[in-house]
Amino acid sequence: MFSIGGTGLGGGIVIGRARVLESRRFDVARYHVADDLRIAEQERLRRALHEVKADIAALAGDLPDDAPAEAGALLEVHSMILDDPALASAALEHIGAHGWNAEWAVSSQADHLAHQFAEFDDPYLRERGRDVQQVTDRVLKALAGRREQHWAGEPAIYVAADIAPSDMLSLKNALGFAIDLGGTTSHTAILARSMNVPSVVGLHSASELIKDDEWLILDGQAGVVIVAPDEALLTEYRHRQATGLLQREKLRRLVHVPGFTLDGVPVQLQANIELPEEAQQAREAGADGIGLFRSEFLFMNRRGLPGEDEQYEAYRAAVLAMRGKPVTIRTLDVGADKALDDSAAVSPNPALGQRAIRFCLAEPEMFLVQLRAILRASAHGPVRILIPMLAHHHEIEQSLRLIAQAREQLLDQGRETPGPVPVGGMIEVPAAALSVNLFLRRLDFLSIGTNDLIQYTLAIDRADHTVASLYDPFHPAVLKLISMTIRAARRAGKPVAVCGELAGEVAATRLLLGMGLQQFSMHAASLLPVKQEVLLSDMTQLGPRVARLLQADEPARVHAAIRRLQRPVTAALDDGGPV
Ligand code: PEP
Ligand code: MG
Repeated sequence: MFSIGGTGLGGGIVIGRARVLESRRFDVARYHVADDLRIAEQERLRRALHEVKADIAALAGDLPDDAPAEAGALLEVHSMILDDPALASAALEHIGAHGWNAEWAVSSQADHLAHQFAEFDDPYLRERGRDVQQVTDRVLKALAGRREQHWAGEPAIYVAADIAPSDMLSLKNALGFAIDLGGTTSHTAILARSMNVPSVVGLHSASELIKDDEWLILDGQAGVVIVAPDEALLTEYRHRQATGLLQREKLRRLVHVPGFTLDGVPVQLQANIELPEEAQQAREAGADGIGLFRSEFLFMNRRGLPGEDEQYEAYRAAVLAMRGKPVTIRTLDVGADKALDDSAAVSPNPALGQRAIRFCLAEPEMFLVQLRAILRASAHGPVRILIPMLAHHHEIEQSLRLIAQAREQLLDQGRETPGPVPVGGMIEVPAAALSVNLFLRRLDFLSIGTNDLIQYTLAIDRADHTVASLYDPFHPAVLKLISMTIRAARRAGKPVAVCGELAGEVAATRLLLGMGLQQFSMHAASLLPVKQEVLLSDMTQLGPRVARLLQADEPARVHAAIRRLQRPVTAALDDGGPV
Protein backbone atom coordinates (compact mmCIF):
# COMPACT_ATOMS: atom_id res chain seq x y z
CA MET A 1 0.00 0.00 0.00
CA PHE A 2 1.23 3.52 -0.78
CA SER A 3 -0.28 6.89 -1.55
CA ILE A 4 0.45 9.57 -4.14
CA GLY A 5 -0.41 13.22 -3.62
CA GLY A 6 -1.54 15.66 -6.28
CA THR A 7 -4.07 18.42 -6.77
CA GLY A 8 -7.68 17.44 -6.16
CA LEU A 9 -10.30 18.73 -8.55
CA GLY A 10 -13.17 17.83 -6.25
CA GLY A 11 -15.98 15.35 -6.81
CA GLY A 12 -15.57 13.44 -3.53
CA ILE A 13 -14.17 9.98 -2.78
CA VAL A 14 -14.27 6.99 -5.07
CA ILE A 15 -13.02 3.43 -4.66
CA GLY A 16 -12.40 1.17 -7.63
CA ARG A 17 -9.99 -0.77 -9.77
CA ALA A 18 -7.35 0.98 -11.85
CA ARG A 19 -7.47 1.03 -15.63
CA VAL A 20 -4.10 2.36 -16.75
CA LEU A 21 -4.27 4.02 -20.14
CA GLU A 22 -1.47 3.68 -22.63
CA SER A 23 1.33 6.15 -22.17
CA ARG A 24 0.68 9.42 -23.94
CA ARG A 25 3.99 9.56 -25.74
CA PHE A 26 4.70 6.25 -27.32
CA ASP A 27 7.90 6.06 -29.34
CA VAL A 28 7.60 7.84 -32.61
CA ALA A 29 9.38 6.17 -35.51
CA ARG A 30 11.64 8.51 -37.47
CA TYR A 31 12.77 7.71 -40.98
CA HIS A 32 13.21 9.39 -44.31
CA VAL A 33 10.84 8.82 -47.19
CA ALA A 34 12.17 8.60 -50.74
CA ASP A 35 11.35 11.52 -53.06
CA ASP A 36 8.82 9.62 -55.14
CA LEU A 37 6.93 8.42 -52.02
CA ARG A 38 6.49 11.80 -50.38
CA ILE A 39 3.14 12.55 -51.98
CA ALA A 40 1.81 9.20 -50.78
CA GLU A 41 3.19 9.92 -47.27
CA GLN A 42 1.43 13.29 -47.25
CA GLU A 43 -1.75 11.53 -48.28
CA ARG A 44 -1.32 9.06 -45.37
CA LEU A 45 -1.10 12.00 -42.94
CA ARG A 46 -4.12 13.71 -44.54
CA ARG A 47 -6.13 10.51 -44.11
CA ALA A 48 -5.16 10.24 -40.44
CA LEU A 49 -6.07 13.90 -39.84
CA HIS A 50 -9.36 13.32 -41.59
CA GLU A 51 -10.06 10.20 -39.54
CA VAL A 52 -9.40 11.99 -36.24
CA LYS A 53 -11.56 14.92 -37.32
CA ALA A 54 -14.39 12.56 -38.19
CA ASP A 55 -13.96 10.82 -34.81
CA ILE A 56 -14.19 14.11 -32.95
CA ALA A 57 -17.20 15.20 -35.01
CA ALA A 58 -18.90 11.89 -34.22
CA LEU A 59 -18.21 12.36 -30.51
CA ALA A 60 -19.60 15.91 -30.66
CA GLY A 61 -22.70 14.69 -32.52
CA ASP A 62 -23.19 11.96 -29.93
CA LEU A 63 -23.01 14.10 -26.82
CA PRO A 64 -25.82 13.18 -24.47
CA ASP A 65 -28.16 15.94 -23.27
CA ASP A 66 -26.61 15.82 -19.84
CA ALA A 67 -23.03 16.27 -21.10
CA PRO A 68 -21.23 19.15 -19.41
CA ALA A 69 -21.72 22.50 -21.11
CA GLU A 70 -18.01 22.75 -21.96
CA ALA A 71 -17.84 19.41 -23.76
CA GLY A 72 -18.93 20.68 -27.18
CA ALA A 73 -16.64 23.71 -26.94
CA LEU A 74 -13.64 21.55 -26.01
CA LEU A 75 -14.21 19.20 -28.94
CA GLU A 76 -14.47 22.27 -31.16
CA VAL A 77 -11.06 23.47 -29.92
CA HIS A 78 -9.51 20.12 -30.79
CA SER A 79 -11.14 20.16 -34.17
CA MET A 80 -9.75 23.67 -34.78
CA ILE A 81 -6.25 22.53 -33.83
CA LEU A 82 -6.49 19.81 -36.48
CA ASP A 83 -7.34 22.46 -39.08
CA ASP A 84 -4.69 24.88 -37.91
CA PRO A 85 -2.06 25.39 -40.61
CA ALA A 86 0.54 25.74 -37.84
CA LEU A 87 0.10 22.00 -37.24
CA ALA A 88 -1.28 20.25 -40.32
CA SER A 89 0.16 22.36 -43.16
CA ALA A 90 3.53 22.68 -41.44
CA ALA A 91 3.72 18.89 -40.94
CA LEU A 92 2.77 18.26 -44.57
CA GLU A 93 5.50 20.68 -45.60
CA HIS A 94 8.09 18.80 -43.51
CA ILE A 95 7.21 15.64 -45.43
CA GLY A 96 7.44 17.41 -48.79
CA ALA A 97 10.57 19.42 -48.08
CA HIS A 98 12.64 17.10 -45.85
CA GLY A 99 11.18 13.68 -46.57
CA TRP A 100 10.27 13.07 -42.92
CA ASN A 101 7.79 10.30 -42.31
CA ALA A 102 4.28 11.41 -41.26
CA GLU A 103 4.74 10.52 -37.55
CA TRP A 104 8.00 12.40 -37.31
CA ALA A 105 6.61 15.43 -39.17
CA VAL A 106 3.48 15.81 -37.09
CA SER A 107 5.06 15.05 -33.71
CA SER A 108 8.01 17.40 -34.19
CA GLN A 109 5.68 20.18 -35.30
CA ALA A 110 3.50 19.53 -32.23
CA ASP A 111 6.57 19.63 -29.97
CA HIS A 112 7.57 22.92 -31.55
CA LEU A 113 4.10 24.42 -30.91
CA ALA A 114 3.93 23.02 -27.37
CA HIS A 115 7.30 24.60 -26.69
CA GLN A 116 5.97 27.98 -27.82
CA PHE A 117 2.96 27.65 -25.52
CA ALA A 118 5.21 26.65 -22.63
CA GLU A 119 6.91 30.05 -22.90
CA PHE A 120 3.75 31.89 -21.87
CA ASP A 121 3.54 33.13 -18.31
CA ASP A 122 -0.17 32.70 -18.22
CA PRO A 123 -1.07 29.21 -16.93
CA TYR A 124 -4.18 29.09 -19.11
CA LEU A 125 -2.17 29.62 -22.29
CA ARG A 126 0.56 27.25 -21.12
CA GLU A 127 -2.04 24.52 -20.86
CA ARG A 128 -3.03 25.03 -24.50
CA GLY A 129 0.20 23.26 -25.50
CA ARG A 130 -1.32 20.18 -23.93
CA ASP A 131 -4.32 20.38 -26.22
CA VAL A 132 -1.95 20.33 -29.20
CA GLN A 133 -0.16 17.27 -27.78
CA GLN A 134 -3.43 15.50 -27.08
CA VAL A 135 -4.68 16.06 -30.62
CA THR A 136 -1.34 14.91 -32.00
CA ASP A 137 -1.49 11.71 -29.96
CA ARG A 138 -4.79 10.92 -31.60
CA VAL A 139 -3.26 11.54 -35.03
CA LEU A 140 -0.30 9.28 -34.17
CA LYS A 141 -2.66 6.54 -33.08
CA ALA A 142 -4.62 6.91 -36.31
CA LEU A 143 -1.36 6.68 -38.30
CA ALA A 144 -0.53 3.49 -36.44
CA GLY A 145 -3.97 2.13 -37.23
CA ARG A 146 -4.82 1.93 -33.52
CA ARG A 147 -8.31 2.38 -32.26
CA GLU A 148 -9.06 4.88 -29.55
CA GLN A 149 -9.45 3.29 -26.15
CA HIS A 150 -13.18 3.14 -25.63
CA TRP A 151 -13.65 1.02 -22.56
CA ALA A 152 -17.08 -0.32 -22.08
CA GLY A 153 -16.27 -2.83 -19.37
CA GLU A 154 -16.51 -2.56 -15.60
CA PRO A 155 -16.54 0.95 -14.15
CA ALA A 156 -12.96 1.90 -13.26
CA ILE A 157 -10.67 4.69 -12.13
CA TYR A 158 -8.69 5.78 -15.18
CA VAL A 159 -5.00 6.40 -14.63
CA ALA A 160 -2.97 8.11 -17.34
CA ALA A 161 -0.09 10.42 -18.02
CA ASP A 162 -2.69 12.66 -19.62
CA ILE A 163 -6.20 12.24 -20.97
CA ALA A 164 -7.56 14.35 -23.79
CA PRO A 165 -10.98 15.89 -23.09
CA SER A 166 -12.37 13.96 -26.06
CA ASP A 167 -11.12 10.67 -24.57
CA MET A 168 -12.55 11.64 -21.22
CA LEU A 169 -15.95 11.96 -22.81
CA SER A 170 -15.73 8.55 -24.38
CA LEU A 171 -14.77 6.88 -21.08
CA LYS A 172 -18.37 6.61 -20.02
CA ASN A 173 -17.71 4.12 -17.24
CA ALA A 174 -15.14 6.33 -15.46
CA LEU A 175 -15.44 6.36 -11.68
CA GLY A 176 -12.56 8.81 -11.38
CA PHE A 177 -9.47 10.16 -13.09
CA ALA A 178 -5.88 10.07 -11.79
CA ILE A 179 -3.64 12.07 -14.09
CA ASP A 180 0.13 12.60 -13.99
CA LEU A 181 0.17 16.08 -15.50
CA GLY A 182 -0.80 19.05 -13.39
CA GLY A 183 -2.71 22.19 -14.21
CA THR A 184 -6.10 23.01 -12.78
CA THR A 185 -6.80 25.31 -15.72
CA SER A 186 -6.29 22.63 -18.37
CA HIS A 187 -9.29 21.71 -20.45
CA THR A 188 -8.98 18.22 -19.03
CA ALA A 189 -9.33 19.63 -15.51
CA ILE A 190 -12.19 21.95 -16.48
CA LEU A 191 -14.06 19.05 -18.02
CA ALA A 192 -13.42 16.67 -15.11
CA ARG A 193 -14.79 19.29 -12.74
CA SER A 194 -17.92 19.89 -14.73
CA MET A 195 -18.48 16.13 -15.21
CA ASN A 196 -18.35 15.98 -11.42
CA VAL A 197 -16.16 12.87 -11.58
CA PRO A 198 -13.70 12.68 -8.65
CA SER A 199 -10.29 13.54 -10.08
CA VAL A 200 -6.73 14.25 -9.06
CA VAL A 201 -4.14 15.85 -11.35
CA GLY A 202 -0.42 16.53 -10.87
CA LEU A 203 0.35 12.97 -9.73
CA HIS A 204 3.69 13.00 -11.61
CA SER A 205 4.33 9.29 -12.22
CA ALA A 206 1.10 7.61 -11.09
CA SER A 207 0.66 6.04 -14.51
CA GLU A 208 4.01 4.25 -14.08
CA LEU A 209 3.56 3.28 -10.42
CA ILE A 210 0.01 1.97 -10.63
CA LYS A 211 -0.75 -1.34 -12.29
CA ASP A 212 -3.89 -2.34 -14.12
CA ASP A 213 -6.58 -3.83 -11.86
CA GLU A 214 -5.04 -2.62 -8.62
CA TRP A 215 -7.51 -1.31 -6.07
CA LEU A 216 -7.44 2.45 -5.62
CA ILE A 217 -8.98 4.96 -3.28
CA LEU A 218 -9.17 8.36 -4.97
CA ASP A 219 -10.02 11.38 -2.86
CA GLY A 220 -10.86 14.27 -5.23
CA GLN A 221 -11.16 16.70 -2.35
CA ALA A 222 -7.88 15.98 -0.62
CA GLY A 223 -6.00 15.30 -3.88
CA VAL A 224 -4.75 11.85 -2.85
CA VAL A 225 -4.68 8.44 -4.51
CA ILE A 226 -4.10 5.43 -2.24
CA VAL A 227 -2.83 2.37 -4.11
CA ALA A 228 -3.63 -1.17 -2.94
CA PRO A 229 -5.20 -0.03 0.36
CA ASP A 230 -5.56 -2.51 3.20
CA GLU A 231 -8.92 -3.60 4.55
CA ALA A 232 -8.92 -1.13 7.46
CA LEU A 233 -8.35 1.85 5.17
CA LEU A 234 -10.96 0.60 2.72
CA THR A 235 -13.50 0.43 5.50
CA GLU A 236 -12.67 3.91 6.69
CA TYR A 237 -12.92 5.39 3.20
CA ARG A 238 -16.16 3.54 2.44
CA HIS A 239 -17.57 5.21 5.51
CA ARG A 240 -16.26 8.62 4.45
CA GLN A 241 -17.62 8.09 0.96
CA ALA A 242 -21.08 7.26 2.26
CA THR A 243 -21.08 10.29 4.56
CA GLY A 244 -20.00 12.51 1.65
CA LEU A 245 -22.78 11.21 -0.59
CA LEU A 246 -25.33 11.71 2.13
CA GLN A 247 -24.12 15.23 2.68
CA ARG A 248 -24.36 16.07 -1.00
CA GLU A 249 -27.86 14.64 -1.18
CA LYS A 250 -28.93 16.69 1.80
CA LEU A 251 -27.36 19.79 0.33
CA ARG A 252 -29.43 19.38 -2.85
CA ARG A 253 -32.46 20.18 -0.75
CA LEU A 254 -31.11 23.67 -0.21
CA VAL A 255 -31.32 24.63 -3.89
CA HIS A 256 -34.56 26.55 -3.51
CA VAL A 257 -34.03 27.69 0.07
CA PRO A 258 -33.45 31.46 0.12
CA GLY A 259 -30.14 32.59 1.59
CA PHE A 260 -30.74 34.13 5.01
CA THR A 261 -28.59 33.99 8.10
CA LEU A 262 -30.05 32.72 11.39
CA ASP A 263 -30.75 36.31 12.39
CA GLY A 264 -32.60 36.99 9.15
CA VAL A 265 -30.00 38.89 7.11
CA PRO A 266 -30.43 38.23 3.35
CA VAL A 267 -27.30 36.92 1.64
CA GLN A 268 -27.02 36.61 -2.13
CA LEU A 269 -25.10 33.65 -3.48
CA GLN A 270 -24.17 34.09 -7.11
CA ALA A 271 -22.13 32.06 -9.57
CA ASN A 272 -18.94 32.65 -11.52
CA ILE A 273 -19.04 31.43 -15.11
CA GLU A 274 -16.58 31.31 -17.98
CA LEU A 275 -18.92 30.41 -20.82
CA PRO A 276 -22.58 31.31 -21.40
CA GLU A 277 -23.54 27.62 -21.41
CA GLU A 278 -22.65 27.42 -17.71
CA ALA A 279 -25.41 29.87 -16.79
CA GLN A 280 -28.02 27.15 -16.88
CA GLN A 281 -26.04 24.96 -14.46
CA ALA A 282 -25.68 27.98 -12.20
CA ARG A 283 -29.41 28.56 -12.20
CA GLU A 284 -30.08 24.90 -11.51
CA ALA A 285 -27.71 25.07 -8.53
CA GLY A 286 -29.87 27.88 -7.15
CA ALA A 287 -27.58 30.84 -7.96
CA ASP A 288 -29.11 34.25 -7.28
CA GLY A 289 -27.48 35.55 -10.44
CA ILE A 290 -24.10 35.59 -12.16
CA GLY A 291 -21.69 37.61 -10.06
CA LEU A 292 -18.79 37.18 -12.49
CA PHE A 293 -18.90 36.25 -16.18
CA ARG A 294 -15.21 36.03 -17.15
CA SER A 295 -15.75 37.21 -20.71
CA GLU A 296 -12.13 36.60 -21.76
CA PHE A 297 -12.93 32.93 -22.32
CA LEU A 298 -14.90 33.98 -25.41
CA PHE A 299 -11.71 35.49 -26.80
CA MET A 300 -9.37 32.55 -26.22
CA ASN A 301 -8.52 29.47 -28.25
CA ARG A 302 -9.47 31.05 -31.51
CA ARG A 303 -8.15 32.98 -34.44
CA GLY A 304 -9.26 36.62 -34.44
CA LEU A 305 -11.51 38.44 -32.00
CA PRO A 306 -15.19 37.67 -31.56
CA GLY A 307 -17.24 40.37 -33.30
CA GLU A 308 -20.01 42.45 -31.75
CA ASP A 309 -22.82 40.15 -32.90
CA GLU A 310 -21.05 37.01 -31.68
CA GLN A 311 -20.40 38.56 -28.28
CA TYR A 312 -23.95 39.87 -28.10
CA GLU A 313 -25.30 36.37 -28.73
CA ALA A 314 -23.09 34.93 -25.98
CA TYR A 315 -24.06 37.57 -23.41
CA ARG A 316 -27.70 37.34 -24.38
CA ALA A 317 -27.62 33.54 -23.97
CA ALA A 318 -26.38 33.94 -20.38
CA VAL A 319 -28.96 36.66 -19.65
CA LEU A 320 -31.83 34.55 -21.01
CA ALA A 321 -30.63 31.45 -19.15
CA MET A 322 -30.75 33.36 -15.85
CA ARG A 323 -34.43 34.23 -16.36
CA GLY A 324 -34.51 37.68 -14.81
CA LYS A 325 -31.65 37.20 -12.34
CA PRO A 326 -28.76 39.66 -12.75
CA VAL A 327 -25.76 38.83 -14.93
CA THR A 328 -22.51 40.66 -14.15
CA ILE A 329 -20.34 40.70 -17.25
CA ARG A 330 -16.72 41.48 -16.55
CA THR A 331 -15.03 43.24 -19.42
CA LEU A 332 -12.05 41.58 -21.05
CA ASP A 333 -9.37 40.59 -18.54
CA VAL A 334 -6.41 39.75 -20.77
CA GLY A 335 -3.01 41.34 -20.92
CA ALA A 336 0.39 41.16 -22.46
CA ASP A 337 0.76 37.58 -21.26
CA LYS A 338 -2.56 36.57 -22.77
CA ALA A 339 -1.80 38.40 -26.00
CA LEU A 340 -4.65 38.42 -28.46
CA ASP A 341 -2.38 38.62 -31.48
CA ASP A 342 1.14 37.46 -32.10
CA SER A 343 2.48 40.95 -32.72
CA ALA A 344 1.80 42.11 -29.15
CA ALA A 345 5.02 42.40 -27.18
CA VAL A 346 5.35 40.14 -24.17
CA SER A 347 5.62 42.23 -21.03
CA PRO A 348 8.67 41.60 -18.84
CA ASN A 349 6.35 41.26 -15.85
CA PRO A 350 2.94 40.39 -17.22
CA ALA A 351 1.01 40.52 -13.93
CA LEU A 352 2.09 44.14 -13.62
CA GLY A 353 1.88 44.91 -17.32
CA GLN A 354 -0.82 45.99 -19.70
CA ARG A 355 -3.49 43.71 -18.35
CA ALA A 356 -7.29 43.91 -18.08
CA ILE A 357 -8.64 47.50 -18.15
CA ARG A 358 -5.20 48.84 -19.05
CA PHE A 359 -5.26 46.73 -22.21
CA CYS A 360 -8.86 47.70 -23.04
CA LEU A 361 -8.18 51.42 -22.66
CA ALA A 362 -5.17 51.05 -24.95
CA GLU A 363 -7.44 49.37 -27.53
CA PRO A 364 -10.59 51.53 -27.35
CA GLU A 365 -12.08 50.27 -30.65
CA MET A 366 -11.92 46.69 -29.42
CA PHE A 367 -13.31 47.74 -26.04
CA LEU A 368 -16.21 49.61 -27.69
CA VAL A 369 -17.18 46.45 -29.59
CA GLN A 370 -17.48 44.58 -26.30
CA LEU A 371 -19.35 47.41 -24.57
CA ARG A 372 -21.87 47.69 -27.42
CA ALA A 373 -22.45 43.93 -27.28
CA ILE A 374 -23.03 44.06 -23.51
CA LEU A 375 -25.39 47.04 -23.76
CA ARG A 376 -27.39 45.28 -26.47
CA ALA A 377 -27.64 42.16 -24.32
CA SER A 378 -28.99 44.25 -21.45
CA ALA A 379 -32.25 44.60 -23.40
CA HIS A 380 -32.99 40.98 -22.47
CA GLY A 381 -32.63 41.12 -18.71
CA PRO A 382 -30.71 42.73 -15.87
CA VAL A 383 -27.04 43.15 -16.81
CA ARG A 384 -24.20 44.81 -14.90
CA ILE A 385 -20.81 45.78 -16.29
CA LEU A 386 -17.78 45.00 -14.15
CA ILE A 387 -14.36 46.55 -14.87
CA PRO A 388 -11.30 44.53 -13.79
CA MET A 389 -8.05 45.72 -12.23
CA LEU A 390 -8.88 49.38 -11.77
CA ALA A 391 -6.30 51.34 -9.79
CA HIS A 392 -6.48 54.93 -11.05
CA HIS A 393 -9.16 57.59 -11.08
CA HIS A 394 -8.64 58.29 -14.78
CA GLU A 395 -9.22 54.61 -15.60
CA ILE A 396 -12.66 54.85 -14.03
CA GLU A 397 -13.43 58.08 -15.88
CA GLN A 398 -12.22 56.76 -19.22
CA SER A 399 -14.20 53.54 -18.78
CA LEU A 400 -17.38 55.44 -17.99
CA ARG A 401 -16.80 57.71 -21.00
CA LEU A 402 -16.36 54.74 -23.31
CA ILE A 403 -19.53 53.12 -21.98
CA ALA A 404 -21.41 56.37 -22.72
CA GLN A 405 -19.82 56.46 -26.17
CA ALA A 406 -20.84 52.87 -26.89
CA ARG A 407 -24.41 53.79 -26.00
CA GLU A 408 -24.31 56.80 -28.35
CA GLN A 409 -22.97 54.64 -31.17
CA LEU A 410 -25.89 52.26 -30.71
CA LEU A 411 -28.29 55.21 -30.79
CA ASP A 412 -26.69 56.47 -34.00
CA GLN A 413 -27.22 53.06 -35.54
CA GLY A 414 -30.88 53.32 -34.61
CA ARG A 415 -30.60 50.34 -32.29
CA GLU A 416 -32.70 49.75 -29.25
CA THR A 417 -30.93 51.40 -26.31
CA PRO A 418 -31.97 49.87 -23.04
CA GLY A 419 -32.04 51.73 -19.72
CA PRO A 420 -28.99 52.45 -17.58
CA VAL A 421 -26.69 49.53 -16.84
CA PRO A 422 -24.98 49.55 -13.42
CA VAL A 423 -21.21 49.82 -13.74
CA GLY A 424 -18.99 48.36 -11.04
CA GLY A 425 -15.30 48.00 -10.39
CA MET A 426 -13.22 45.10 -9.21
CA ILE A 427 -11.15 45.72 -6.13
CA GLU A 428 -8.12 43.56 -6.82
CA VAL A 429 -5.22 45.95 -6.40
CA PRO A 430 -4.33 47.26 -2.90
CA ALA A 431 -4.39 50.82 -4.28
CA ALA A 432 -8.05 50.36 -5.15
CA ALA A 433 -8.94 49.11 -1.67
CA LEU A 434 -7.04 51.96 -0.06
CA SER A 435 -8.82 54.59 -2.18
CA VAL A 436 -12.16 52.84 -2.18
CA ASN A 437 -14.17 56.01 -1.53
CA LEU A 438 -13.06 57.38 -4.85
CA PHE A 439 -14.40 54.23 -6.49
CA LEU A 440 -17.64 54.45 -4.58
CA ARG A 441 -18.25 58.02 -5.72
CA ARG A 442 -18.14 57.07 -9.39
CA LEU A 443 -19.29 53.45 -9.54
CA ASP A 444 -22.56 51.67 -8.77
CA PHE A 445 -21.12 48.57 -7.09
CA LEU A 446 -17.87 46.84 -6.14
CA SER A 447 -16.65 43.27 -6.43
CA ILE A 448 -13.57 42.15 -4.55
CA GLY A 449 -11.32 39.88 -6.62
CA THR A 450 -9.44 38.18 -3.83
CA ASN A 451 -7.33 36.05 -6.18
CA ASP A 452 -5.55 39.11 -7.48
CA LEU A 453 -5.89 41.17 -4.31
CA ILE A 454 -3.87 38.49 -2.46
CA GLN A 455 -1.36 38.29 -5.32
CA TYR A 456 -0.76 42.03 -5.39
CA THR A 457 -0.87 42.58 -1.62
CA LEU A 458 1.60 39.83 -0.81
CA ALA A 459 3.66 40.24 -4.01
CA ILE A 460 3.18 36.58 -4.87
CA ASP A 461 2.65 35.52 -8.46
CA ARG A 462 -0.48 33.38 -8.27
CA ALA A 463 0.76 31.32 -11.23
CA ASP A 464 4.16 30.53 -9.70
CA HIS A 465 4.06 27.28 -7.75
CA THR A 466 7.41 27.96 -6.09
CA VAL A 467 5.80 30.69 -3.96
CA ALA A 468 2.39 29.03 -3.64
CA SER A 469 2.93 28.29 0.06
CA LEU A 470 3.16 32.03 0.74
CA TYR A 471 -0.20 32.71 -0.89
CA ASP A 472 -2.21 33.24 2.29
CA PRO A 473 -5.81 34.47 1.93
CA PHE A 474 -5.94 35.00 5.70
CA HIS A 475 -2.88 37.22 5.95
CA PRO A 476 -3.89 40.10 8.25
CA ALA A 477 -3.03 42.67 5.55
CA VAL A 478 -5.35 40.99 3.05
CA LEU A 479 -8.16 40.73 5.59
CA LYS A 480 -7.84 44.42 6.47
CA LEU A 481 -8.15 45.43 2.81
CA ILE A 482 -11.21 43.22 2.30
CA SER A 483 -12.91 44.42 5.45
CA MET A 484 -12.12 48.06 4.71
CA THR A 485 -13.71 47.74 1.26
CA ILE A 486 -16.85 46.05 2.57
CA ARG A 487 -17.28 48.64 5.33
CA ALA A 488 -16.86 51.58 2.97
CA ALA A 489 -19.35 50.18 0.45
CA ARG A 490 -21.92 49.53 3.18
CA ARG A 491 -21.49 53.07 4.49
CA ALA A 492 -22.05 54.39 0.98
CA GLY A 493 -25.09 52.14 0.58
CA LYS A 494 -23.64 50.44 -2.50
CA PRO A 495 -23.59 46.69 -3.18
CA VAL A 496 -20.30 44.90 -2.64
CA ALA A 497 -19.46 41.25 -3.41
CA VAL A 498 -16.47 38.95 -3.13
CA CYS A 499 -15.95 36.99 -6.38
CA GLY A 500 -12.48 35.46 -5.90
CA GLU A 501 -11.99 31.83 -4.82
CA LEU A 502 -12.29 32.88 -1.18
CA ALA A 503 -16.05 33.40 -1.67
CA GLY A 504 -16.47 29.68 -2.39
CA GLU A 505 -14.50 28.47 0.60
CA VAL A 506 -16.66 27.36 3.48
CA ALA A 507 -13.75 28.07 5.84
CA ALA A 508 -14.06 31.76 4.97
CA THR A 509 -17.85 32.14 4.91
CA ARG A 510 -18.28 33.21 8.53
CA LEU A 511 -15.31 35.49 8.39
CA LEU A 512 -16.76 37.33 5.40
CA LEU A 513 -20.25 37.43 6.94
CA GLY A 514 -18.72 38.88 10.08
CA MET A 515 -17.18 41.62 7.95
CA GLY A 516 -20.70 42.44 6.79
CA LEU A 517 -20.58 40.78 3.36
CA GLN A 518 -24.00 39.99 1.88
CA GLN A 519 -23.01 39.01 -1.67
CA PHE A 520 -20.79 36.09 -2.60
CA SER A 521 -19.96 34.87 -6.10
CA MET A 522 -18.29 31.49 -6.66
CA HIS A 523 -17.98 28.34 -8.79
CA ALA A 524 -21.46 26.78 -8.97
CA ALA A 525 -20.24 23.62 -7.19
CA SER A 526 -19.57 25.63 -4.00
CA LEU A 527 -22.98 27.34 -3.82
CA LEU A 528 -24.77 24.80 -1.66
CA PRO A 529 -22.01 24.14 0.92
CA VAL A 530 -21.62 27.91 1.34
CA LYS A 531 -25.38 28.37 1.54
CA GLN A 532 -25.56 25.81 4.30
CA GLU A 533 -22.92 27.70 6.24
CA VAL A 534 -24.80 30.97 5.74
CA LEU A 535 -28.03 29.41 6.99
CA LEU A 536 -26.24 28.29 10.16
CA SER A 537 -24.52 31.61 10.86
CA ASP A 538 -25.60 34.51 13.01
CA MET A 539 -24.38 37.76 11.52
CA THR A 540 -25.04 39.79 14.67
CA GLN A 541 -22.84 37.48 16.72
CA LEU A 542 -20.13 37.21 14.10
CA GLY A 543 -19.68 40.99 13.66
CA PRO A 544 -17.92 41.74 16.99
CA ARG A 545 -15.91 38.51 16.90
CA VAL A 546 -14.55 39.29 13.46
CA ALA A 547 -13.89 42.93 14.43
CA ARG A 548 -11.70 41.64 17.30
CA LEU A 549 -9.96 39.16 15.03
CA LEU A 550 -9.07 41.96 12.63
CA GLN A 551 -7.23 43.79 15.40
CA ALA A 552 -4.71 40.96 15.63
CA ASP A 553 -1.73 41.08 13.36
CA GLU A 554 0.01 37.87 14.30
CA PRO A 555 -0.88 35.42 11.50
CA ALA A 556 -1.03 32.38 13.78
CA ARG A 557 -3.52 34.09 16.09
CA VAL A 558 -5.62 35.27 13.16
CA HIS A 559 -5.72 31.77 11.68
CA ALA A 560 -6.70 30.25 15.01
CA ALA A 561 -9.45 32.83 15.52
CA ILE A 562 -10.84 32.10 12.02
CA ARG A 563 -10.89 28.38 12.81
CA ARG A 564 -12.81 29.10 16.01
CA LEU A 565 -15.52 30.82 13.96
CA GLN A 566 -16.29 27.51 12.29
CA ARG A 567 -18.37 24.68 13.37
CA PRO A 568 -18.04 21.44 11.48
CA VAL A 569 -20.55 20.96 8.71
CA THR A 570 -21.12 17.34 9.76
CA ALA A 571 -22.13 18.47 13.23
CA ALA A 572 -24.58 20.85 11.66
CA LEU A 573 -26.02 18.03 9.56
CA ASP A 574 -26.24 15.63 12.48
CA ASP A 575 -27.90 17.99 14.89
CA GLY A 576 -30.87 18.67 12.68
CA GLY A 577 -29.70 21.96 11.18
CA PRO A 578 -31.59 23.51 8.32
CA VAL A 579 -31.04 20.59 5.97
C1 PEP B 1 -9.89 37.63 -8.80
O1 PEP B 1 -8.82 38.14 -9.12
O2 PEP B 1 -10.20 37.31 -7.64
C2 PEP B 1 -10.91 37.34 -9.83
C3 PEP B 1 -12.11 36.94 -9.52
O3 PEP B 1 -10.52 37.46 -11.13
P1 PEP B 1 -9.63 36.37 -11.90
O4 PEP B 1 -9.47 35.19 -11.02
O5 PEP B 1 -10.37 36.08 -13.17
O6 PEP B 1 -8.37 37.14 -12.12
MG1 MG C 1 -8.62 39.01 -11.08
